[in-house]
Amino acid sequence: PAVARIEETAAQTHLEWDTPLFETAVAQFELALPYADVSEAVAERLRYPERAVMLSVPVKMDDGRRVVFAGYRVQHSSVLGPTKGGIRYDPEVTLGECAALAVWMTWKCALLRLPYGGAKGGVRCNPRQMSQRELEGLTRRFTSDLLPVIGPQEDIPAPDMATNEQTMAWMMDTYSMQVGHAVPEIVTGKPISIGGSVFRHEATGAGVVMVIARACERLGWKLAEQRCVVQGFGNVGGIAAHELVDRGATVIAVSDLSGGIYDGNGLDVHAMSEFAKEHGSLESWETGTRVSNEELLELPCDVLVLAAREDQVTEENAPRIHARLIAEGANGPTSLEADAILAARGIPILPDILTNAGGVTVSYFEWVQDLGRLFWGRDEIRGKLAEKLNDAFDRVWEISLERGVTLRTAALVAGIREVAAALDARGLYP
Ligand code: NAD
Repeated sequence: PAVARIEETAAQTHLEWDTPLFETAVAQFELALPYADVSEAVAERLRYPERAVMLSVPVKMDDGRRVVFAGYRVQHSSVLGPTKGGIRYDPEVTLGECAALAVWMTWKCALLRLPYGGAKGGVRCNPRQMSQRELEGLTRRFTSDLLPVIGPQEDIPAPDMATNEQTMAWMMDTYSMQVGHAVPEIVTGKPISIGGSVFRHEATGAGVVMVIARACERLGWKLAEQRCVVQGFGNVGGIAAHELVDRGATVIAVSDLSGGIYDGNGLDVHAMSEFAKEHGSLESWETGTRVSNEELLELPCDVLVLAAREDQVTEENAPRIHARLIAEGANGPTSLEADAILAARGIPILPDILTNAGGVTVSYFEWVQDLGRLFWGRDEIRGKLAEKLNDAFDRVWEISLERGVTLRTAALVAGIREVAAALDARGLYP
């Protein structure tokens, strides 16, 4: 083919986003490519993000100091529409991490047939050591530094790790003040009072359980009979645990940064999340048996929900996982090596780009409602979400059976095919 691999052009080797997580994202893409039937020219375009922005964000701290934080936004593909993806505040945020997460967002949006491409951004900071006022200052300055690259038709941020409805409200306000009128459609995951969706807060966790429920149907299992372990007790894990219990399943262990809590008879997750809301974590929760986060992952169970962060199941602990099914609520929680080990052991993984897609799907509904200034109710949104997730699940299941590949590869194939078709139809400009 006429296309030179980018590695052949010396200036482009070792690009700044070439980090372990980005390599994982690219390696997964390469594994899926042979089944996606796309041209090498299109594949080459999709190996790299379209745009990556690095910022230094100065913030006035409460003690009078001025601290400069590193901020990033990476946009992977805009062929299907504006880019879309979360903003995270975390000490480990890097350009490579954002790039990997942006790539996954592209496949996720395409798999769900949403008119978006992928993006991700964040600020390297320790949000737990910052006051609300400092976080507001950081958010407003970060948003205004991002003005040239975000917009309702360009790139639409959303919450991610350690960012929430309040963060999105500050972003929406900062953007709106710059353009001179209210622009709710600039972010999703906003408070309901300024155009947020009545179901966005629960959407990702509820979606995780909708996908688990569909998988149980296909596997001939009853969801209500499953014993579940949930790693991460934040927006995704906390809500997923609630939904599991509400559907009759038993949640025998949950964890957050402070460690895990186990009770073979089932935990009272409703009381635990009230407690976590009040105390900031489950650290001083008193009943049940304390387990470390490492031990939690290895507990015998039916369904293991990974809803904390990336890189949790690796080559090292994959041989000791005793779940019958793994559901990825977090992005990238399973390493490539672990994927292979679990596949060989016959433990299916419901992949992140399908399993946690409830968040971006309801974000899409929110954006559509903001653009149309017309708002839907909870039941309508929940119903539309289930329809979209079930449709995506069925396509993934089918490809997996047809091509004899894992559910992850099948989900990637479905997403890549959608993006590739759009690139083929549009052609290369100029
Ligand atoms: P969050 O900050 O609300 O919650 C994260 C939870 O994980 C917290 O309880 C935290 O204490 C815990 N945690 C962090 N590191 C841990 C560790 N090593 N072991 C155990 N627990 C740990 O964040 P979130 O929004 O729930 O996001 C979690 C994951 O889900 C991330 O990978 C994120 O990218 C992904 N995700 C989130 C959404 C969304 O709508 N919020 C959508 C799609 C994907």
